[in-house]
Amino acid sequence: MSTPPTPSTPPTPSTPPTPSALPSPVESFTSPHKVDYTFVAGTGRSAFLRGLQERRLLARRCPTCERVYLPAPEFCSRCLAELSEPFELAGTGVVKTFCVVNFPFPGQMIDPPYLVAYIQVDGADTTLMHLVRDVEPADVHIGLRVEPVWCAEEDLDTSMNSIRYYRPVAGGSDA
Ligand SMILES: [Zn+2]
Repeated sequence: MSTPPTPSTPPTPSTPPTPSALPSPVESFTSPHKVDYTFVAGTGRSAFLRGLQERRLLARRCPTCERVYLPAPEFCSRCLAELSEPFELAGTGVVKTFCVVNFPFPGQMIDPPYLVAYIQVDGADTTLMHLVRDVEPADVHIGLRVEPVWCAEEDLDTSMNSIRYYRPVAGGSDA
């Protein structure tokens, strides 16, 4: 015959710590988890990524609705039609919306403040996200015309890192 459990005493409510009593945040720790991740771009996005390695922005058009994708998948997300052969865009574009990052956070690769924007490249109906630099954040606005700054030849690869950032087009008028 077992002994019935003894009722435990409920914990005494404690006073919540004041903000000054809080410990400093733990910013990182060694995790036992490891994830090997393989990204497969597929034939659609591979055209875009291989273009970046050659300093070219390659878009594709839907033959049904005429929508121009950059980056382009293989099929139109609206019509499901297979997109056209890749064709090159000049690369200049316009800021459609943006965010100024002012706060530091663990793992951050760029010292704040910095500015991230959605950029609609001329001739495309979609946007891509990138940094906008060589300009004070206060001077960036929706409609600002920008151009890509490509990385050095030896650093070009099949990623968005081939474009270091966008900057305002010198003497460019707003869209
Ligand atoms: Zn379409």
